[in-house]
Amino acid sequence: MTILVVDDAAFSRGMICNYLNAAGFETEQASDGQNALEMVQTASPGHYALIITDMLMPRMTGVELLAALTEANISIPVIVVTADIQATTRQECEGLGCVEFMNKPVTPGPLREAVERAVAPAKATG
Ligand SMILES: [Mg+2]
Repeated sequence: MTILVVDDAAFSRGMICNYLNAAGFETEQASDGQNALEMVQTASPGHYALIITDMLMPRMTGVELLAALTEANISIPVIVVTADIQATTRQECEGLGCVEFMNKPVTPGPLREAVERAVAPAKATG
């Protein structure tokens, strides 16, 4: 199962990938929302089981990525990880279909639990 990790900060992206790799998940990285959208659109359908994205990024933000995925009819679950703890941001993300909203910095245990919750429905239906 491959997870696409999107963050403009290489350190933050790398840390999330390390946690996910340690938990047994494959990861790929994108440096902003536009980069992530291009990767998803060129990958084979079903390649990415999940997207974990930062919010504030150049070119395309996490909110814009959520909107673009909906627009393109791509139904990959998205977890938003951000230092922006405003309730309005959270509501905006949930309104655009994000399945989990986590505050930075994430820690390995809660991250793994969020990933398992996010991909559970897909697993159940095969
Ligand atoms: Mg950022």
